[in-house]
Amino acid sequence: MHPFALSRAVDASMAIAGHADDPQLSFIAGGTDLLGLIKDRAALPERLLDINGLRGMAQIEALPDGGLRIGALARMSDVAADVEVRRRFPVIAEGLLFAASGQLRNMASIGGNIMQRTRCSYFRDGDDLPCNKRRPGTGCAALAGINRTHAIFGWSESCVATHPSDVAVAFAAMDANVIVRSRTGERSIPFTQFHRLPGDSPDRDNVLERGDLIVAVEVPARVEGRSSYYLKVRDRQSYEFALVSVAAGVATSARTITSVRLAMGGVAHKPWRLTAAESALRGVSLDDANVLRAAIATAFVEARPLPDNAFKVELAQRAVLRALETAGARA
Ligand SMILES: Cc1cc2nc3c(=O)[nH]c(=O)nc-3n(C[C@H](O)[C@H](O)[C@H](O)COP(=O)(O)OP(=O)(O)OC[C@H]3O[C@@H](n4cnc5c(N)ncnc54)[C@H](O)[C@@H]3O)c2cc1C
Ligand code: SF4
Repeated sequence: MHPFALSRAVDASMAIAGHADDPQLSFIAGGTDLLGLIKDRAALPERLLDINGLRGMAQIEALPDGGLRIGALARMSDVAADVEVRRRFPVIAEGLLFAASGQLRNMASIGGNIMQRTRCSYFRDGDDLPCNKRRPGTGCAALAGINRTHAIFGWSESCVATHPSDVAVAFAAMDANVIVRSRTGERSIPFTQFHRLPGDSPDRDNVLERGDLIVAVEVPARVEGRSSYYLKVRDRQSYEFALVSVAAGVATSARTITSVRLAMGGVAHKPWRLTAAESALRGVSLDDANVLRAAIATAFVEARPLPDNAFKVELAQRAVLRALETAGARA
């Protein structure tokens, strides 16, 4: 195990300044991803700053306008069990409940969850196979290797990994915002712009800079929130990451779709919004499966499967249809 020094933060400004000034320091919340990365030598911080003592960052607030503010230190299990989260945005509660295990969800925080790194096995491999995310400039072992679980959208020659978070897919579908505090103040980053595509620099998963502390995720009130659903397809029914997943939310008038929100997990380096399908589905009846299928297909024109994962293109479209129909049944 790589040795590190551990200290505890009591003041957010000091934590932010410490992180900004010290490139060898990492924040640690639940530690359920970071400690695994350290064991796999995919992260080698010299100093860990425990942020769990920072005040005001663990609350789950139901906002008067119908939205939510979820503190970055709120635990996955607490958010999943919150009555207002379940009532207003079942897709968020389900995205959390289908993730990891009970014990992990009790430890793991919302901020840490959206910051978790890819499960690409070459990235996590202690033998240091070529991996541009782990060691920039070494290549991508997955591109010509085993890439069954990898991306079908938005990948580059440098990296074909997917983002593993489930709840991030639900947040992306609901147009949440990540609230980040730094030395210069607080800013709000639209969730769909928080994670990056790999491009030439897959070592960077998101747009955060040093000295950035996630303080909350805010979910605006959404008419599609109450009739929403999270569908996760995986190799085994529990304790497994998604092959593909879908967050769907829909608003209807007499079974006709008036607006819909769709995002997918397991298909790209970031949660992937199906914007073409969202437009094509407006005005379609939830009872017309053939038209629904055709509208969903518009978002898959740009799919670029890898040698081992062409099955995801069909699987993903079937999953979207099922998620949409299930969300529609809640409308
Ligand atoms: C066996 C296993 C199975 C899993 N299955 C799933 C699954 O199916 N679906 C799923 O979504 N997840 C899954 N996970 C991942 C799990 O959800 C994450 O490990 C967890 O959410 C990370 O939260 P944490 O608080 O423990 O983060 P930590 O490990 O403490 O931190 C992770 C990263 O986030 C950074 N960080 C933490 N908080 C902040 C903050 N406030 N501001 C800025 N940076 C911060 C840390 O510096 C670190 O880089 C699984 C994990 C394991 C080990
Ligand atoms: S897909 Fe990305 S994470 Fe996986 S080996 Fe290639 S560069 Fe590394």
